[in-house]
Amino acid sequence: MSPKTLYHNLVRSNIADMAPYTPIVPFDVLSKRLGIPAEDIVKLDANENPYGPSPSVYRALANEKDYHIYPDPDSTALRQALSQYTGIDATHIIAGQGADELIDLIVRLFVTPGDTVINCPPTFGMYRFDTELNGGKVIDAERKADFSLDTESIVEIATSGKNTKILFITSPNNPDGSVLSDAHLRELLQLPLIVVLDEAYIEFSGGSRADWVLEHENLVVLRTFSKWAGLAGLRVGYGIFPHWIISHLLKIKQPYNVNVAGSAAALASLADVRQLRVNIRKIVAEREHLYSALRNFDFLEPYPSEANFILSRVVGRDAAGLKAALAKSGILIRYFNTPGLQDHVRISVGKPAQTSVLLSALEIISEQA
Ligand code: PMP
Repeated sequence: MSPKTLYHNLVRSNIADMAPYTPIVPFDVLSKRLGIPAEDIVKLDANENPYGPSPSVYRALANEKDYHIYPDPDSTALRQALSQYTGIDATHIIAGQGADELIDLIVRLFVTPGDTVINCPPTFGMYRFDTELNGGKVIDAERKADFSLDTESIVEIATSGKNTKILFITSPNNPDGSVLSDAHLRELLQLPLIVVLDEAYIEFSGGSRADWVLEHENLVVLRTFSKWAGLAGLRVGYGIFPHWIISHLLKIKQPYNVNVAGSAAALASLADVRQLRVNIRKIVAEREHLYSALRNFDFLEPYPSEANFILSRVVGRDAAGLKAALAKSGILIRYFNTPGLQDHVRISVGKPAQTSVLLSALEIISEQA
């Protein structure tokens, strides 16, 4: 923490009061810290795609001629290709620097300081982060024990006159991988607020509601290339919006938000969907294998998941300690020090060989009980 200067009062008060962000330790730093070569680290902590991008992405990046030219502010080619992929007209699509950028833009469009946003934890952290960053107030409608939405509580918050602007829902949800039912979504769309449905993991489950946007003026669907297409490092996502929201978002979006490399990589991925679907099928098969294997450990209670990760309750052991023990062997999984999740760990689905390394390490840990 830097010492306070004469000018510290100039910082926006909601930011001055915010807790500092805990950054993820970069791979190379971690490798040095653990004394394990980077290629031997089994990284199952951030829901990345272990198969990486399509080979055609590397070719597209090598052949790209326009790195010295600013990108197309409208991402025209990418939106056209996304239209084919999603079946939704390109006029409903905005591309962004990851779904993360779109979450921030949506909050900035609707939330003025003092407005509220409904969050349904446990869930992805950026909804809260961006709301607080923009001076909004987050009201939590905690999920039930099986991680389904508490729709009664959501309705109560949304209709209690607190200037509620947005409801964020994630399906499949991160960190548990459960999906939202059609009936719940239909009910929530009746509320007088914007429903943002985050489908970052939809390719692992199917059943996208992207086309519901065409019939609901208050629905936004977010998607990303980070998971199914293995482009997390290139930061490309997109949203499907009703036209009236697009017209406002285009006023506030940074013109060059999707860069030339990200755009080229996303286009190459969309031209190679068949191959990428092979990887998706491998991940889904491995998820089911991992789920059954985790159930064999008496200290783990995995939840069924429709995404590329599995949340497990850790029984009779310290979940943070389990994460730390695996990290010592170069296996990274996710522990959340947040209410409701302190006795849980989330493991991303890797390649079969990574699952084997994980399971062997869990066997050793299990014997050390
Ligand atoms: N939404 C959810 C539910 C996520 O879990 C993540 C990534 N962990 C994102 C959005 C972020 O996606 P992107 O990489 O496109 O910013």
